[in-house]
Amino acid sequence: PRFPRNLGTFRGLASAAPSPSSLWVCEHIKGAPSSSSLSALTAASRLSQPITALVAGPGASEAAASLASLEPVSKVVVVGDEAYNHGLPEVWAPLVAQLTKDQGFSHVFAAHSAFGRNVMPRVAATLDVSQLSDITSVESEDTFTRPIYAGNIISTVQSSDPIKILTVRSTAFPSAVPSGGKEAEKADGPQIDTAKSSALSKWLSEEIAKSDRPELGSAKRVISGGRALGSKDNFKLLEQLADKLGAGLGASRAAVDAGYVDNALQVGQTGKIVAPELYVAIGISGAIQHLAGMKDSKVIVAINKDAEAPIFAIADYGLVGDLFKIVPELAEKL
Ligand code: FAD
Repeated sequence: PRFPRNLGTFRGLASAAPSPSSLWVCEHIKGAPSSSSLSALTAASRLSQPITALVAGPGASEAAASLASLEPVSKVVVVGDEAYNHGLPEVWAPLVAQLTKDQGFSHVFAAHSAFGRNVMPRVAATLDVSQLSDITSVESEDTFTRPIYAGNIISTVQSSDPIKILTVRSTAFPSAVPSGGKEAEKADGPQIDTAKSSALSKWLSEEIAKSDRPELGSAKRVISGGRALGSKDNFKLLEQLADKLGAGLGASRAAVDAGYVDNALQVGQTGKIVAPELYVAIGISGAIQHLAGMKDSKVIVAINKDAEAPIFAIADYGLVGDLFKIVPELAEKL
């Protein structure tokens, strides 16, 4: 009932009533879709309805070809405008909202990344519907699950809004993969006055941490260190181990706060959520906020000198002992 009223407040947009169809907002880096975005596409594909991909910014045309070959995608909307570079939410949200209205999508999916978290609530507010954040399953077209209280409760949410605006937890869905020989239809997106919306914020610069190791969010193996490491220098012990295993490097918040590593490495409730094949927690006590970020890992190994440390309660393998003896020995054996 809220929707028809809202059509009046959102004048100027030609709109179609929502029909069962999804818009997937693709986040890409120089034309390559991010793995979390590809997980959001898998979530969208759990509903048996057509999926349109939206790709915008420089590199959008290059990306369109590979997106068209993704199995669930039936149409790709391309907006090449420079203004969509760097993912400014003030510029992106009007585009996503307009396209949703114009084409009458019933669902809009994006990754629960910094970009998705920034853009999608604005889209929801513009369309006067609720935001469904960080979903971990698609039960039906109106029902989804999402973790709350740092993952201690899984809530099942049913939305009665005509349009569902969703962000997707990437560790809950595998990445969609291209399938050969398929070609989706391509179309141009709506023209939006980006000068007006970009007046609110400006991209100045970015610093991207460069590393030869796999990225924490998508690594199949992760080695994480905690406060017990004691210094930035000692963290190098874990780097050796990570290199031997081809693993990504993570850390507890205590290690980040102490300045041992960059905060991009933080795993947990207020850091990254990871679910690798192998997670090795070294000198980490296992506080509930840390567990919230890694407890879905397939195999968990803990190294801690305190046999009573809570991390052992969820570890598949536990080594009780001094990490400064165990880690070099382990690296040596590997
Ligand atoms: P500690 O709890 O101090 O544990 C160190 C462990 O190392 C101990 O178990 C000790 O036995 C062991 N140890 C010591 N010396 C050795 C040795 N030589 N060899 C082997 N083991 C040794 N934390 C996160 O990690 N991620 C988050 O996202 C996060 N978000 C938070 C959000 C909120 C709102 C709050 C309140 C807290 C959050 N925290 C988070 C902090 C969390 O509560 C813990 O304080 C933190 O995880 C502790 O880090 P730690 O395990 O490295 O340190």
